[in-house]
Amino acid sequence: MPEIAFVGRSNVGKSSLINAVLARRSIAHRSKWPGKTRMCNIYRVESAYYLVDLPGYGFARVSKKERIGFRKLIREYLTSRRTLAGAVWLLDIRREPSPDDLEVAEYIISASVPVIVTMTKADKIAKGDRNRRIQSIVESLGVPQDQCLITSVTKKEGIQELRDSIHEFLAEGART
Ligand code: GDP
Repeated sequence: MPEIAFVGRSNVGKSSLINAVLARRSIAHRSKWPGKTRMCNIYRVESAYYLVDLPGYGFARVSKKERIGFRKLIREYLTSRRTLAGAVWLLDIRREPSPDDLEVAEYIISASVPVIVTMTKADKIAKGDRNRRIQSIVESLGVPQDQCLITSVTKKEGIQELRDSIHEFLAEGART
C-alpha cells in the first residue's frame, strides 16, 4: 500500500493537521509540549494508504544523539522509501525556514519526492500578509509556489484541498 508522509519541525501543527485531515478528534497524539511526538505514528486510511507521521524535528530539548537519530530516520525515509507516494511538508507561515527545514528541503529536492508544502497556522497572520510570507518561504526553500498550500486547523482552511492533493499523489502512485 502507498504511503503519504507528514514531516515538519516540532510544534508546527502536525498532529492537529493530521487529525483534521482524518476528520477525527485527537487520534494523533496531541503533544502538550513540543517534541513529545517522538515516535513514528502510522495510520491506515480508508484501506487506501498509510499516513506516516514522521517525528517532529528541530526540538532543542532532545539529546544530540536523539537528534542525529531523527535526522537519519527522516533522511533515509524520504530518500529511499520505495512505497512513498508523496510528502506533506509543514512550515509555520509566520516563520522563516530553520536550518533543519533547509536540510529537509535538500532531501526532498534531491530525491524528487512529490511534495505539498503546507503552510500552517494561517489564521495567525493578516490575510494581507499572506503573499509576502509565501514568497519569502518559497524563495528560501527553492520550491515552486504551485506546490504550496495554506492551512488553518482552527479556521478549517485548506483541509479539503490537502486531502485532494493526497489523492492526486495516490493516483500517481508510489515512486517505484
Ligand atoms: P506538532 O508538535 O507539530 O504535532 O504540533 P501540534 O499539532 O501539537 O500543535 C502545536 C500548537 O499549535 C498547539 O497548541 C496547537 O493547538 C497549535 N495549532 C496547530 N494548528 C494550528 C492552527 O492552524 N492555528 C492555530 N492558531 N494554532 C494551531
